[in-house]
Amino acid sequence: MGAELITQIAATVGRFIFPQLCPICASEVTASGVCTACWPSLTLISGNACRQCGTPFPYQPLLDRCGNCLRQPPDFDAACCALVYGESSRQLVLGLKHSDRQDIAPVLAAMMLPNTLPMMMAADYLVPLPLHPRRFFSRRYNQSAELCRHLLRAAPELMPKYAPELLLRVKKTPPQGHKTRQQRISSMRGAFLVPPHLTPLVKDAHVLVIDDVLTTGASLSSAARALKRAGAKTVSVSTAARVC
Ligand SMILES: [Zn+2]
Ligand SMILES: [Zn+2]
Repeated sequence: MGAELITQIAATVGRFIFPQLCPICASEVTASGVCTACWPSLTLISGNACRQCGTPFPYQPLLDRCGNCLRQPPDFDAACCALVYGESSRQLVLGLKHSDRQDIAPVLAAMMLPNTLPMMMAADYLVPLPLHPRRFFSRRYNQSAELCRHLLRAAPELMPKYAPELLLRVKKTPPQGHKTRQQRISSMRGAFLVPPHLTPLVKDAHVLVIDDVLTTGASLSSAARALKRAGAKTVSVSTAARVC
């Protein structure tokens, strides 16, 4: 029996024991990913969005930045997001974050790739937004690092260096869910740090930070400030979803 036939039989048996399920409605699918019934419930963000904060524009704008970014810009220089945060995308993000559904990471990474690829090619380092060590210990994985892992698979030879060690989370912050923008900004102050012995690596570098959701941008702004204090030239961010 040839090795190819054995692999095919193993894959068929594997699909029978562990069928592929749509990560939104849990119906069986033939290939991994969102099923055809759920796909229209997701709103993908194409190129027509604010260059700095990733908010989609409802019309063709005159400028490439939104009013919020012109009045009070975040500390990161550019952002892109794959999906508008809605009922279905929320299920994907929360499933990945809280339900141990690491199989959702490649699905979200595939949606992030078209907008993120140009940023990855321009970056020196790819950094997942870190969890506080205590949260990492209880969750056992960082959802942002899982997204990085699958993004890097797209074209490894073109990609920036994966460098999760460049950013530490030094302040444990409570869930940000019901806080106002101002409360989020003050609770995230000083939350991140570049380890002093790694600042020579960050100096003049272009850094791309990956996270699951961009809400007010307070966490990512705080991370960008830490990287810029350490000398980073630019900080871009890419997330799976954007609260609009
Ligand atoms: Zn479905
Ligand atoms: Zn903006």
